[in-house]
Amino acid sequence: MKNIKYIFTILILFCFLGSCTKSDKNYAKASFEAMDTWMTIQCWGKDCENAISIAREEVTSLEKLMSTTKEDSHIKSLNQKSENTLLSDQNSVVENLPPDLLPLIDFSLQMAETTKGAFNPCLYPVTRTWGFTTGTYKIPDENLIKEKLVYTDYEKIKFDDEKIILPAGMMFDFGGIGKGYTGDKIIQILKNHGAEYGILDLGGNVQAFGTKNDGSPWKIGIKNPVDEGIIAGLSINEGAVITSGGYERFFTGDDGKKYIHIMDSFSGYPVNNGLVSVTIIAESGAYADSLSTALFVMGIEEAVNFWKNNTDQFFDFILMKQISSDSEEIKLEIIYSDSLKDKIQILETSCVEEIKIITK
Ligand code: AMP
Ligand code: MG
Repeated sequence: MKNIKYIFTILILFCFLGSCTKSDKNYAKASFEAMDTWMTIQCWGKDCENAISIAREEVTSLEKLMSTTKEDSHIKSLNQKSENTLLSDQNSVVENLPPDLLPLIDFSLQMAETTKGAFNPCLYPVTRTWGFTTGTYKIPDENLIKEKLVYTDYEKIKFDDEKIILPAGMMFDFGGIGKGYTGDKIIQILKNHGAEYGILDLGGNVQAFGTKNDGSPWKIGIKNPVDEGIIAGLSINEGAVITSGGYERFFTGDDGKKYIHIMDSFSGYPVNNGLVSVTIIAESGAYADSLSTALFVMGIEEAVNFWKNNTDQFFDFILMKQISSDSEEIKLEIIYSDSLKDKIQILETSCVEEIKIITK
């Protein structure tokens, strides 16, 4: 009897230790700094620690490819060559592309076309003039902006599977799509290496994949664009929830006006249409990221029409516009697509004046 008790105790201990080891192995989390922001990856499944470490390597290599500011970045060097080519009065740069850069360029230019240029990955000559890439902000002369806009016509870029022909003076800026694109790559890697489900937070861009063990949806908070904290909560199954916010990077000019980092691609001036936050919910991170920027540029009316007429990939949106009430308190109008009705919860109602639900 004593022996049976002994064996039983050992068995329980084994089971306990076994489940500990298993659950430890089954969950991994890493937070790190990359692409000018903080990133957190969490995943559950087989060998998640290894999966995350491979994903981190991918983030480092993508940053090396697409950063406009990192010394050893491919895009920084391509942009520099394009500028030098212009200075030496030549027409264009012809350059072989690393295979990993091709899909990003290809998809970015497709999204430029889809959004009729509202999303434009070639705005670097303009964003640089405003100092948004270096943090040395300034309001440029009107003529200088016009001069720089000449070098942002994405339709002039030609490329094939190997090389790109970039007209002299044109430069890429993947700031409006890069994190979503990276999120898609991370998820692919995690899945390929045994992760069953997980969630990424790439500086506020959230992407979830797979179904949790208990089958419950992922809960994602949307930042209050005019105050601290979270304004709304979303429950989603899988996909990307990506927000463009005027509050993320801006400066106040000598004229007392606020200038945000999202550029009206057509005027070359920071967007000033009342929108303070645009969230896109879609399956793909790159798609949601480029659209969040594009719809911010479009403004409410055009954004809603774009959504209504969209026959491309499915997406939902949440637009937040700042309106002033009589008391001059900051108030928001929140407009969202109807399929979010059962998924969204407004948590901070004191600053919300109006909510509109849009149907097709
Ligand atoms: P996001 O937060 O995704 O809207 O990205 C904003 C970043 O995208 C900016 O900091 C710029 O680097 C870049 N950007 C600004 N305006 C545009 C635009 N109209 N189209 C594409 N990228 C843009
Ligand atoms: Mg974006």
